[in-house]
Amino acid sequence: MSDCLFCRITAGEIPSKKVYEDDLCYAFYDIDPQAPTHFLVIPKDHIPSVSAVNEENAPVVGHIFAVIAKLTKELGLESYRVVSNIGQQAGQSVFHLHFHVLSGRDMTWPPG
Ligand code: 5GP
Ligand code: ZN
Repeated sequence: MSDCLFCRITAGEIPSKKVYEDDLCYAFYDIDPQAPTHFLVIPKDHIPSVSAVNEENAPVVGHIFAVIAKLTKELGLESYRVVSNIGQQAGQSVFHLHFHVLSGRDMTWPPG
């Protein structure tokens, strides 16, 4: 989708600080980090949010979690939080599926 910010980032039309890339997903540092380490992992195909995941496109979500496990190990992150906001009330501001990976500080529960 040409009007989607994260589709434009995966296409290289908007610069980003890459953490990892493969055929299915792209990981990059968040422009407004909420923890000492804060990156996003997104599918290259446009999926609006978790609420649009179905049996057909679900494999990429499993792949993304395998990538998160691999990247966090490589980065030496032993404790971290994975977050996906769904809908405006939950704080979603970019409507292309993404998983925040946050690490490096104490975190509270429940999240605000
Ligand atoms: P959401 O609010 O949808 O859960 O998360 C969207 C995230 O994308 C936010 O944490 C925001 O800081 C990040 N973001 C928004 N625009 C850009 C951008 O142009 N580049 C990068 N690297 N991150 C962005
Ligand atoms: Zn998109």
